[in-house]
Amino acid sequence: MAAKVDNEKCTGCAACVDACPVNAIKIENGKAIISEECVDCGACISQCPVDAIIL
Ligand code: SF4
Ligand code: SF4
Repeated sequence: MAAKVDNEKCTGCAACVDACPVNAIKIENGKAIISEECVDCGACISQCPVDAIIL
């Protein structure tokens, strides 16, 4: 199970992108997208200023 992004909350700030150790996050059309590469480490969650990432 990959982490998920709440598109209603995500501002596309990309703070989560740098936090991910496996480069599973990219920004597309102003929203973060998490791929199946995600290893559920949770590192991105605390970096999101709007709590848009759910594990
Ligand atoms: S939970 Fe970990 S591996 Fe998954 S997207 Fe967030 S930082 Fe990357
Ligand atoms: S840190 Fe949060 S608001 Fe910023 S791009 Fe990632 S999910 Fe979206």
